[in-house]
Amino acid sequence: MTKRPIAIMWFRNDLRLADNPALRATTQWAREHDGCVLPVFILDPVISDQLGGATRWWLEKSLTSLDRSIAERCDVSANIGAFSALRLFTGKASGVFDSIMETRPVGAMFWNRLYDQPSITRDTGIKATMMDRGLTCESFKAQLLFEPWEVKTGGGTDFKVFSPFWRACQKSQPPRAPFKAPDTITLFDQIIKGAVELNTLDLSPKPFDWAAGLSERFTPGEKGAMDQLFEFIDDRLQDYADLRDRPDHRVTSELSPHLRFGEISPFQIFHTANHFADANPGKGKTASKFLSELGWREFAHHILFHAKDLRSAPLQDKFRDFAWADAPDDLEAWQRGQTGFPIVDAGMRELWHTGYMHNRVRMIVGSILVKHLLIDWREGLAWFDDTLVDACPANNPFSWQWIGGCGADAAPYFRIFNPVLQGEKFDPKGAYVRQWVPELRDMPEQFIHKPWDASPLILKAAGVTLGETYPVPLIGLKEGRERALAAYQALKKG
Ligand code: FAD
Repeated sequence: MTKRPIAIMWFRNDLRLADNPALRATTQWAREHDGCVLPVFILDPVISDQLGGATRWWLEKSLTSLDRSIAERCDVSANIGAFSALRLFTGKASGVFDSIMETRPVGAMFWNRLYDQPSITRDTGIKATMMDRGLTCESFKAQLLFEPWEVKTGGGTDFKVFSPFWRACQKSQPPRAPFKAPDTITLFDQIIKGAVELNTLDLSPKPFDWAAGLSERFTPGEKGAMDQLFEFIDDRLQDYADLRDRPDHRVTSELSPHLRFGEISPFQIFHTANHFADANPGKGKTASKFLSELGWREFAHHILFHAKDLRSAPLQDKFRDFAWADAPDDLEAWQRGQTGFPIVDAGMRELWHTGYMHNRVRMIVGSILVKHLLIDWREGLAWFDDTLVDACPANNPFSWQWIGGCGADAAPYFRIFNPVLQGEKFDPKGAYVRQWVPELRDMPEQFIHKPWDASPLILKAAGVTLGETYPVPLIGLKEGRERALAAYQALKKG
């Protein structure tokens, strides 16, 4: 049995080999100490609390892909069961590490940092224990371009508004260049007590395989992420600034789920987009618009890091006692894409089918829920957490607080999206609605976003019977808007 010292690479939301600083440090340590690498993933309560149905599906595929990529780079053939290179565990991470160390000569441990409070608390405790035991233990910046403690206002406080935040980021030390995956990994090649098979993690869709639409749209894993990046840069980035708000044009990168699981790093994206800008004079504007969206991701993570509980507690205290409506039937109609507002229903059905929704449509469906229906933003957050493949501990609560008006740099209370005007502006021919709400496919352009305004003759010609083949709206747009304004005004005065 080998007595070579072991360096543990603890994978979490960084399921990639390239541009992975913790993995690089692990392989380097193993080389310098004539040791070997033990790559682990632990489905502990902190991670499983952050997963919904769609992200569980993604994670299973992503772990499979990572395992294969590690195995391809191993210089020994491991004899450790079906899931060969990456060792999987369940349970509290600290307990898993204790148990490994009881029987194996672990000398070092490395990971990339996370920014939510439960992960920080867990990681800080583990680091302290490991260092007490005399282990080398180091964490790295890999998930963000800028650490939350690196970007401050002139007065030394945290930014609460995006534009000055992003300006300050751009004036900071430029993000480092990405680096390649290690050529070879000297793998710890023996059985480890407690390691489990992938199916033990119980990540597959239940009670039946509902994920066909997700597989059609996405290819989880590092290769899928890089293919997606290059396809976007080659074919779509040139039109991004002009068309990014149009759900009827597929022009955005759809990199969000890959970023969520760290199958690609923001450094790789940042530098590839900058190369595009250098190589395409006159296209700098579109590249910088795209990079500013990555900036929103940074901002959301910084807010997450500084907040006590971004998921549950509104950042603005005055919202704590807001009188949200108790309307379970409306909530269910919204979840099922049966609100009677075509663009909202299209978005909710796209989400259900593919695990994804266009950003503009996320804003429209969010606004209808929180403003017109006065349903608590945390209900929307919970549904998105369960159904989005990119559901992320930072972007999702940050965005829902933004929609609710209670977050950082939030939409002002009087910004109430009108789903008809939004539809007419961003899906002018109704192509997006026709794709996802087939019962309205034959409605004329003029009425596709407001079928209730069409005459009985037009409805009949399109095969639509409101209240039967397609719902009547849950609430009048004017009535919902006035009710929301009154509720938000009351809060403002209170
Ligand atoms: P692109 O336009 O190609 O942008 C590139 C990357 O920038 C994205 O992949 C994402 O990482 C980041 N980004 C883009 N827009 C935003 C934004 N507004 N805020 C923060 N980061 C952004 N994004 C998530 O990644 N996970 C979520 O759970 C999530 N929940 C959301 C909930 C609501 C109510 C709203 C309004 C937005 C939410 N977003 C979320 C933000 C945004 O909608 C998605 O990041 C974007 O639609 C992903 O598509 P894309 O990769 O094609 O984006």
